[in-house]
Amino acid sequence: MLINLSDVLSDQHKTVDETVPLTMDKICLQSGEYPVVSSEPVHVRAEHIKGKELLINADTALTVLIPCDRCLEEVRYDFVLNCTRHVDLGLSDAELTEELDESNFIDGYHLDVDKMLFHEILSEWPEKVLCREDCKGLCRVCGRNLNTGSCDCEDPGLDPRMSVVRDLFKNFKEV
Ligand SMILES: [Zn+2]
Ligand SMILES: [Zn+2]
Repeated sequence: MLINLSDVLSDQHKTVDETVPLTMDKICLQSGEYPVVSSEPVHVRAEHIKGKELLINADTALTVLIPCDRCLEEVRYDFVLNCTRHVDLGLSDAELTEELDESNFIDGYHLDVDKMLFHEILSEWPEKVLCREDCKGLCRVCGRNLNTGSCDCEDPGLDPRMSVVRDLFKNFKEV
């Protein structure tokens, strides 16, 4: 979604105050694609500071499906965003890109709302998502989701000395 900023830069310096829909339906990262399942309209405000300098603010909230780190079940993760950027349109494109942290969300006299928010989502992206604090994850042998029940696999991660003891215990039980 592009918002025309030329009114803010005109002689009247009319403040832009608009509510627009979020048009992203997924978040594409190197690690994969994450569907956006719901979002609030984006409230955008752009006001003139001086010369060609603007203060741009955008706020919204969205819910993204991110797989649980342990069991891979999709988790609804909520982002509440409120970002403010100081932009100087008097700069050249190259200077602007550098100034804006390599995410150029200004295209000529237009603000690309999705690009601006995408950068904010990246910076808020969680390092780890769990479906619940005590998620048991997947069995490393058969891949079963251990939250839904246990399996009969031996845990290969156990200390080998312990498995000797366990075998002795098993033999003892079988006698
Ligand atoms: Zn989980
Ligand atoms: Zn298993």
